[in-house]
Amino acid sequence: MIVECPHCHTRVEPTVDEECPSCRKNVLDNSDADLSKTSMSIAHSTKLPQVCHSCAIPTDRYVVVKQSFGATEMSAVRRVLSMLVAVVFGLFNLDNDSQRERRRRDNVRVRVPQCQTCSSNGPPQPMSVNSETYHLTLLVDRRFKQFVESESA
Ligand SMILES: [Zn+2]
Ligand SMILES: [Zn+2]
Repeated sequence: MIVECPHCHTRVEPTVDEECPSCRKNVLDNSDADLSKTSMSIAHSTKLPQVCHSCAIPTDRYVVVKQSFGATEMSAVRRVLSMLVAVVFGLFNLDNDSQRERRRRDNVRVRVPQCQTCSSNGPPQPMSVNSETYHLTLLVDRRFKQFVESESA
């Protein structure tokens, strides 16, 4: 059964000892867990309310979260190939549209509401990125997730 680990907020399948395979803590032990936060998967098309994703106060400030999955999920072979392609393009000076297009497809861009106060903690850091569905997984305030879910309902 897949559950959200209360400690690292990763969606995991706990071991038989109820241990999170990601952070090795007990998923049933909430004692040191931050239950105000939850993980949420967000796509470019997800409608987000004007509410800070991190503390759930109203804000009209948005930040762009951009994550490339070229480096994380691309296989070593593909990486070497794309490097060779880049070298060849470089040699013949053919930095054309198809190469730019490919770079665009290797990115997920999502506009996420973040209030001024929370922005001092730096930009939102995606927990993971799904290169098939173009979703980012972010750690958000539980109330923010409820806002999103109630708006899309
Ligand atoms: Zn965990
Ligand atoms: Zn905030």
